[in-house]
Amino acid sequence: MFESLSDKLSGIFDKLTRRGALSEADVAEALREVRRALLDADVALDVARAFSEKAQERAVGANIVKSISPGQMVIKIVNDVLVETLGETAEPISLDANPPVAIMMVGLQGAGKTTTTAKIAKRLKEREKKRVLMASLDVKRPAAQEQLAVLGRQVGVDTLPIMGGQTPVQIARRAMESARKEGYDVVLLDTAGRTHIDEPLMQEMVDIKSYASPHEILLVADALTGQDAVNLAKNFDQRVGVTGIVLTRMDGDGRGGAALSMRFVTGKPIKLIATGEKMDALDEFSPKRIADRILG
Ligand code: GDP
Repeated sequence: MFESLSDKLSGIFDKLTRRGALSEADVAEALREVRRALLDADVALDVARAFSEKAQERAVGANIVKSISPGQMVIKIVNDVLVETLGETAEPISLDANPPVAIMMVGLQGAGKTTTTAKIAKRLKEREKKRVLMASLDVKRPAAQEQLAVLGRQVGVDTLPIMGGQTPVQIARRAMESARKEGYDVVLLDTAGRTHIDEPLMQEMVDIKSYASPHEILLVADALTGQDAVNLAKNFDQRVGVTGIVLTRMDGDGRGGAALSMRFVTGKPIKLIATGEKMDALDEFSPKRIADRILG
């Protein structure tokens, strides 16, 4: 992820730093090139535009053409604006509510929802020492509940026993009741996905939400789908409300547009990134670390 953007930016910055003195026009041209590089990386137009306007304003405000190393200052400004666009600080999953804390996982089929649910369960168990219960609310795909149970055994986290014939809301109710009775700290509700957004899916999410009152609603989105992932997040947020985003397949060689636009467009934090199929392949989303990766 980000390789091509990173190469382009380092080309732009090399040119700048080699030059020494810079005119205002040179700086403006460099920032236009940065904007083109962002658009090539599939960054949303609004984001690329806001990015270059902000950077240009800072460059003029800081009067960098008069400074000793103007090229370095342009790089610093781009770095700062990038970190701001990505959301500044890492935002972990919040468990700050009365237990059992419900976390609802939503997203399209194939985005990596079930895998990510198990990864989060493992993380909460190992790092936060929480007692976690997972439940699959996917009654459409016969193998879905079993898939979560298999992952549960793999990571050593309990899953709600499978019972046929229940609706998603009934399963959610059973999960919350078991958790209350048996003293679990966190309940992860893995909802059903579809290949695309449709009204029945959204209504199902709204029903589950109104029953389970989740403290977090995490949208799992495939980073390789670029702008589609961003539009998906907007849609889910408008209809269901999300508290955070998990971007999967950050190990793939996508251009990175979704990761770079998501926060700005939706206003919701990217809380975690998934970087592979293994149960440990989950990291917190750190704007500074991502900016370092891009700017080298
Ligand atoms: P769901 O339909 O949204 O529940 O998706 P799954 O959790 O079943 O995942 C679909 C496929 O994507 C599985 O083969 C996962 O192993 C794989 N997968 C999930 N997350 C990642 C990731 O971050 N990177 C890679 N490379 N594969 C992933």
